[in-house]
Amino acid sequence: MAFKKSFDTLLSESSQLHGHLCPGQVIGVRMAMLGCTLIGLEDPTSREQIKKLIVYIEMDRCAGDAVAHVTGVKLGRRSLKFMDYGIMAATFLNLETGQAFRIISTEEARDLADLYAPGIEGKGAQQLEAYKLMPDDVLFRVQAVAVDIREYDMPGPTRKKSICSRCSQMIRDDREVMIDNTPVCRPCAGAAYFSDAREVSLGSLLKKGETDNTLNHEGEIAC
Ligand SMILES: [Zn+2]
Ligand SMILES: [Zn+2]
Repeated sequence: MAFKKSFDTLLSESSQLHGHLCPGQVIGVRMAMLGCTLIGLEDPTSREQIKKLIVYIEMDRCAGDAVAHVTGVKLGRRSLKFMDYGIMAATFLNLETGQAFRIISTEEARDLADLYAPGIEGKGAQQLEAYKLMPDDVLFRVQAVAVDIREYDMPGPTRKKSICSRCSQMIRDDREVMIDNTPVCRPCAGAAYFSDAREVSLGSLLKKGETDNTLNHEGEIAC
């Protein structure tokens, strides 16, 4: 069985959603098509296959959007796992069979762009065309991997809820840290990406906005 949708269709859809056509779209579309094919899910967005697929995306770059589009994985469905490694790679896991492959975009492919698409002006344009033509084993390294997905990371209903012993925030899916045998949310445990959090009254903020003229005469929010 071949991949349900064609490369050209997927590339055009993905570029539209992403906002532009770029070498990353080509890499991401091909990475996702290869990854899904290797685990036997060649129509990943279909009703039947969408529940079987989990994708771990290791970069928040252009290619990540393309992988998400082709596979249909979503943060809100817990089928997209963002692993902040800064590596141009993604792992495709078939939940039904347990089969998983990690596809890594090679650095060599960048150097070979000139060979596969000679005479094209501009590095980006040349890479874009070359990445369409390169064989999979030049564009990617592939690893068969074992992914031990935890019950708490699976799609479906929340399996565990805890209350932070310091700020009383509800913590879902076993993300708490245990300190002195009590659950603590990660921000309270000192692992927050923000600092200097102060509760503010929304009412006063919005009123201030009005006098600052962020609302125009028709009451619409001005950009
Ligand atoms: Zn892009
Ligand atoms: Zn807390």
